[in-house]
Amino acid sequence: MQIYPHVPTARDKTLFTPGPLTTSLSVKQAMLRDAGSWHFEFNEIVRAIREKLLEIACLSRAGGFESILMQGSGTFGVEAVVASTVPPDGKLLVLANGAYGERILQMASHLGIATTALRSPENQTPDLDSLRRALADDSTITNVIAVHCETTTGILNPIAEIGEIVREHRRVYIVDAMSSFGAIPVDFVASGIDFLISSPNKCLEGVPGFSFIIARRAALLATEGFARSLSLDLLGQWNAFEKNGQFRFTPPTHSILAFQQALREFDVEGGVAGRAARYRTNHEVLNEGMKHLGFHPYLDPTVQSYIITSFYCPNAPNFGFAEFYRRLADKNMIIYPGKISQADTFRIGSIGRIFESDVHQLLWAVEETISEMNLHLDKKTQNTSIEL
Ligand SMILES: *Cc1c(COP(=O)(O)O)cnc(C)c1O
Repeated sequence: MQIYPHVPTARDKTLFTPGPLTTSLSVKQAMLRDAGSWHFEFNEIVRAIREKLLEIACLSRAGGFESILMQGSGTFGVEAVVASTVPPDGKLLVLANGAYGERILQMASHLGIATTALRSPENQTPDLDSLRRALADDSTITNVIAVHCETTTGILNPIAEIGEIVREHRRVYIVDAMSSFGAIPVDFVASGIDFLISSPNKCLEGVPGFSFIIARRAALLATEGFARSLSLDLLGQWNAFEKNGQFRFTPPTHSILAFQQALREFDVEGGVAGRAARYRTNHEVLNEGMKHLGFHPYLDPTVQSYIITSFYCPNAPNFGFAEFYRRLADKNMIIYPGKISQADTFRIGSIGRIFESDVHQLLWAVEETISEMNLHLDKKTQNTSIEL
C-alpha cells in the first residue's frame, strides 16, 4: 500500500465515525491562537461555555445546576464522576448493554468501588423490572449509571424511564450522554438526573481535549471527601472554577477556543432541534441507502438512534472488513469497525459536520466498492421493505 507524505489539502477525509468527527473549517481555524490560561479573556470564554452548556440542557445555575469542564477525553469525564460521586462505602449499579457500560464496570473495579452489573443483550434495552428488583433488594446500592446512546451499537436506552425508577428508590442517577448530548433532547429534571457526562467532540462538533459534566448542585456538594483521584476530582475541579474561574491544571486551551466557535455554530443551526433534524436525515438516508445496496442493520428500528448505525458484515465470500475499509478510505470516506461481541458488524456514524450530500457520496463509494470487491450482494432478496 502506497503511503503519501501528508501535505495540507483543502479537505480531509470525511469521518463517518462516533468521534472525533468532521468539524467545520471555522472550528479548526479558531484553534490558530495562543491563549493564556490565567488571562481574564480566556477565563471569560470558559465561564461563557459553562453557562451555555447549562442553557443547552435547559438548566441554569439559579435553578440549582452546575457545569464542570474536565481535561481528557470523554472516558476521563465518566471516570471523574464514578471516582467522585460514589460514597466510600457505596455501591454502583451499572446498566450495561455495550462496551461503554462494560468500561464503566472496569473503571469501578480499578477504583475499588463495589458494583452490581445489570446486563442486557447488546440489541436490547435494559429490563426495567430487573432494575426495580435490584434496587428494592439491595439497599447498599447508592448510585446508578446508564448510557444514553450506547455507541457500541447505536441503541438508545430509555434514560427517563430508568430515572423514574432510580428516583423512586432515592439513589443518585448518573447518565453517560457522551454521544447524544446536543442532538437528542434530554429532560434533565423529569429524568431525575444528578450527573450527566458528555464531550465536545461528538454532537456539539468541537474537537477532543476535554469532557464536561452537568450536575445538580445539591448532589455535587454532597460528594465532599468522596474523590478517589486528585486530577479527576469533580468537586475539586468545580471548587477551582468557583474560586478563580480557572482549571486546576493546564487546560486544553485550543480545544476550548474551538468549542466556543462550535457552540456559536450550534446556535446558528437551531440548537438541539436543528442538529437533531440534520442527524436524523443523515441517518435515514444512510439506512435506506445501505439497505438498498443489500446491507442489513443490526438493531431493530424501534431502538435504533440516529447517531450511529451498525450493519452486519455481508456473508459474501469476498468480503473482508479491512479491505472494505481501505477501499472506502481511498475514496476519502472513513467508516468504523464493529465493537459488538455477539455479531460481525461495522458502524457508520451520522454525526459531525456532515450533511445529506456527504451521505449520498458515501453511498456511491460503498456501491463502487461492492462492485470492485465482486461482493454480489443480492439487493432484491436482502432488501425486504424499502423502495428507493
Ligand atoms: C465516545 C464515548 C465514550 C468515551 O469517550 P472517549 O472520548 O472515547 O474517551 C463514552 N461513552 C460513550 C457512550 C461514548 O460514545
